[in-house]
Amino acid sequence: MKHQRHPLAYDSSELPTSWAEPWKIKMVEHIRLLPHDARQQAIATAGWNTFLLPSSDVYIDLLTDSGTSAMSDRQWAALMTGDEAYAGSKDFYELERTVQEVYGYKHFIPTHQGRGAEHLLSQILIKPGQLVPGNMYFTTTKFHQEYAGGVFADVIVDAAHDPTSTLPFKGNVDLDKLANLVTSHGAERIAYISIEGTVNMAGGQPISIENLRAVRAYCTQHRIPLMLDATRLVENAYFIRKQEPGWGDTSIAAIVKELCSLSDGCTVSAKKDGLVNIGGFLAVNDDLLAEKARALVVAFEGLHTYGGMAGRDMGALAVGIRESLEYDYIRARVEQVAYLGARLERFGVPVVVPYGGHAIYLDAKRILPHLDQETFPAQRLAAELYLEAGIRTMERGIVSAGRAPDGSNYRPALELVRLTIPRRVYTQSHLDVTSEAVARVCARADTLGGLRMVYEPEHLRFFQARFEPL
Ligand SMILES: *Cc1c(COP(=O)(O)O)cnc(C)c1O
Repeated sequence: MKHQRHPLAYDSSELPTSWAEPWKIKMVEHIRLLPHDARQQAIATAGWNTFLLPSSDVYIDLLTDSGTSAMSDRQWAALMTGDEAYAGSKDFYELERTVQEVYGYKHFIPTHQGRGAEHLLSQILIKPGQLVPGNMYFTTTKFHQEYAGGVFADVIVDAAHDPTSTLPFKGNVDLDKLANLVTSHGAERIAYISIEGTVNMAGGQPISIENLRAVRAYCTQHRIPLMLDATRLVENAYFIRKQEPGWGDTSIAAIVKELCSLSDGCTVSAKKDGLVNIGGFLAVNDDLLAEKARALVVAFEGLHTYGGMAGRDMGALAVGIRESLEYDYIRARVEQVAYLGARLERFGVPVVVPYGGHAIYLDAKRILPHLDQETFPAQRLAAELYLEAGIRTMERGIVSAGRAPDGSNYRPALELVRLTIPRRVYTQSHLDVTSEAVARVCARADTLGGLRMVYEPEHLRFFQARFEPL
């Protein structure tokens, strides 16, 4: 007897092939959505600044991917065997070996987090008045450069300032801008060039190997050191493998090492790619530079074999660095971000393209075109998302950019709200809820007014500034 095959609703050649997270959940953390009136009270108490909300009042926390990763069972196991000796912890040596192997630098100096490493590097390499060119700026990086007397100079490609440009490597350096700067000021007035992997402030945009090679060649010719901010270099490596011609078959580990080989050293916040909740380091090739850094680290961070980290944290970081290089992991991480971006675009929400490695950025200028930049549209939009659905995001616009030396507000071209995805923490359902909440806010955007700043701290004002609705 012949059996009739059940008729399928699709042609099997058209069936999509989805990917899934290369992990399953072993422990859960409860979250809850406060009622609307409680959220209203919470944001007013927080001065309309999402940084000032208690996390217990937050439902889905997309403030940052910094220190918010879920550690693996292997990392938790490393915590339990951490060696808390003041000097010479076994976990220091394990981490040192890992950093030397993965990133390829000769010297490793642990710090409490990324800004600790930036502080040491800036104090050692920058003479007052010197310029520090970079592919856009990062808040703490620029702060430490200026604190050491340096002057930041932006040499990123123009496309990075255009949220609608779909160029694949918007983190690239504009070599003409760099050459003009060096020619007009002289190479001796350049402290070093500071290159960030997946440029956070540009929307998480990567730099290509081809571009970094050209920058390196130029710097070598003019004897200018090249320092990497390797905080999100693994995510940058994923983009290179996915979209830079010739790298499609290369391992993520080999691409990371290639990028580092084009520099003299790096600073790292281990709270991002490193898959730990706290930590950072400075790694350099030059012996004298390392000696100076070890002299400073004991004054500002801790002994040179812990630099502010507990032994167990160094152990967990060594495991986290290796896990971050696994292709299945980094693909799921970056593609989860793209999933959120694609859903938002389907709802017609203006976002920065291409999608970043760690976050999706809402274009507040296009969502709230009726608000003047001096009334903080992105700050308002971030607060509104909390009011709408208990979702916490952050402003990346005029508040974050701070003030120029003459006291006026910098007016950055980009006025964005960042939806940052913690690593291995949220499921696609959380991102579905998020995208729908953003769409609802956008639908009533014309009813939203601006804010005025009622308290402004002296440094890095976005963390603690307070606002009131106009
Ligand atoms: C987070 C971050 C830093 C600063 O690191 P912390 O660990 O927060 O001190 C520096 N650079 C980049 C690109 C970052 O994302």
